[in-house]
Amino acid sequence: MSKLYGLIGYPVKHSYSAEMHNAAFAELGLDARYELFEVKPQNLEEEFKRLVEKGLCGCNVTIPFKEKVVKLLDGLDEQARLIGAVNTVKVAQDKTTTGFNTDGLGFITHLTKAIGFNPQQKKISILGAGGAAKAVSSQLAKSAAKSIALFDIDQEKAKELAAKLQANFPECEVRLVSSPDALLEDRPDLLINATPVGMHPGDELAFDCANLHPQLIVYDLIYNPAKTLLLQEAQRKGCRGVFNGLGMLLYQGVSAFQIWLDVEPPIEVMEQALREVLTKTE
Ligand code: NAP
Repeated sequence: MSKLYGLIGYPVKHSYSAEMHNAAFAELGLDARYELFEVKPQNLEEEFKRLVEKGLCGCNVTIPFKEKVVKLLDGLDEQARLIGAVNTVKVAQDKTTTGFNTDGLGFITHLTKAIGFNPQQKKISILGAGGAAKAVSSQLAKSAAKSIALFDIDQEKAKELAAKLQANFPECEVRLVSSPDALLEDRPDLLINATPVGMHPGDELAFDCANLHPQLIVYDLIYNPAKTLLLQEAQRKGCRGVFNGLGMLLYQGVSAFQIWLDVEPPIEVMEQALREVLTKTE
């Protein structure tokens, strides 16, 4: 029987993960398929258990379930435990479930290897303190960032993340700021949008873009649309690097694939599949 993988989230229609993983399965000649499972928030537990019973071998988890899924799992790997959020689940043959987080690794691999940005001693500002911000900020602190400034409309969430980061990485200076604009006051080297702001048509900018400076690298974790309003403004302002979340998506997927199947993922094929779907939607 064909092995079943997929993405659990709400909504999931915007995702490119199915194209990426199905291309990798085909390349390796594996009898497996990746599907999108749109699950209403009130049905998460019931649906997750139903999918595991049905024979799900592994899945990715996205908005708004990365933190909520933790309590449904039998175990967590170290990174997922440190972050408190899961984006990848492996289901063993006895249906035991283990949670992983490959978002941070995906982000840092793209940032350092593909973009060539070394976070060491850099000033970083992050909008958002949810699952993705947790993963990304902990990788940046681990990579010896000089400072991390955080803002989230949910101040408690931002406070909790700041406290956790400071406790785990005392060398990194972690600051909570009182508005999105304050994230740009200290002339950071790297600005990251780790919120869904910009995903939906009509979303307004979270920042006063007058403060975007030419030495700044702007990384929006959103990949659909490929160029959010923030990225358009950053480009207009001549920021030296402007990136969407496609590279992070690729490398988090590469790590997830490795976890599920324990084989070397065909990275170029996965990247090509993402590029093709991106071209279609542009
Ligand atoms: P999440 O857990 O829901 O976190 C988002 C956080 O942003 C929440 O705390 C939310 O607060 C906050 N927020 C919303 N609007 C805000 C605003 N205007 N100003 C400040 N904070 C605001 O979501 P996530 O899983 O971290 O994902 C965040 C984004 O990253 C999404 O767009 C997702 O698609 C993207 N992402 C991309 C990749 C990739 O591979 N490229 C991987 C992971 C995530 P409330 O909860 O109070 O609204």
